[in-house]
Amino acid sequence: MSNTSPEHIAALIERVGRLLSTEAHAEGLLPVQWEALRYLHKANRFSRTAAALTAYLGLTKGTVSQTLKALESKGLVKKQIDLKDRRSKHLSLSTKGKRLLQRDPLEVTVAAINELGSSSQRALNRSLESLLALRLAAQDRQPFGQCRDCRYFADRHPEGDPHFCQLLHEKLAAADAQAICYEQLPR
Ligand code: SF4
Repeated sequence: MSNTSPEHIAALIERVGRLLSTEAHAEGLLPVQWEALRYLHKANRFSRTAAALTAYLGLTKGTVSQTLKALESKGLVKKQIDLKDRRSKHLSLSTKGKRLLQRDPLEVTVAAINELGSSSQRALNRSLESLLALRLAAQDRQPFGQCRDCRYFADRHPEGDPHFCQLLHEKLAAADAQAICYEQLPR
């Protein structure tokens, strides 16, 4: 009979995490730099800031600032002044950054998950989402879930494009529904 004790499961997660972290020393980047690139790729326009990235990673401001400086100096990330609030800066991936993400070391694990088959993938997804939610809530951290699962998401709203955010009062495009957001609150 397989060992399903919480201790065993926690040890398995730790080992998978160690594999991911070792493999993420790739293409001259550190694991945290890859995480920042992935975040900027999947975050919506309200969440592509240094403060939101800091909250997502759960690291200090100084570490995130060093990470962003390194990515900027490699030409992978761009910073732009927010025209509505000139004190804040928006981050985005450069074309070089987007191209590099196509060689993301995480793809090895994505391929392994693909081999598990759809019912195992659904079960793993459910369990890991629940575990992550519990751990983040215990530390009072934001979930950064997908926009379409947010309580403020209005699907095909008359003022939308086609969707609408009822918290920020902003139009949302179809692609925004899949993006993750700093302000997201699950329904
Ligand atoms: S609906 Fe929620 S997740 Fe989407 S932009 Fe608004 S606050 Fe963010």
